[in-house]
Amino acid sequence: MIKYALVCAVGHEFEGWFGSSSDYDDQSGRGLVDCPVCGVAEVRKQIMAPAVAGTKRRSSPDIAPQMREMMMQAQAAVRSHVEENFDYVGDTFAREARAIHEGRSEERGIYGEASPKEVTALIEDGVRVAPLPPAPPKKEELN
Ligand SMILES: [Zn+2]
Repeated sequence: MIKYALVCAVGHEFEGWFGSSSDYDDQSGRGLVDCPVCGVAEVRKQIMAPAVAGTKRRSSPDIAPQMREMMMQAQAAVRSHVEENFDYVGDTFAREARAIHEGRSEERGIYGEASPKEVTALIEDGVRVAPLPPAPPKKEELN
């Protein structure tokens, strides 16, 4: 068995056990590896940085802050796209998402609030939902 640190398209981090690395490739290639939080099948292995514990010497430039910055920009882009193009439905999100899924409501992109319990129920019923990335920090909160 081999354990991988995985991350879904939305950014949830979780771990998965596989028989071998080819097992993982096979399952993820067929979309069988789902995020346990949001159910998204777009999952990839986390890029692991080499451990630097025990040494202060850096042989390569510190790229972590840049990666963090890029991820925050990507998340901000996703969020603003959703906010500009999707209907905000507030705390009726779970009901509305289910209605759209079942064809009882107009098919469109929506976003709003839902409790973890509601989200779990939606995913169990095959409704694809994903948490919106956090809003980028406001300028005045930076420093
Ligand atoms: Zn996820």
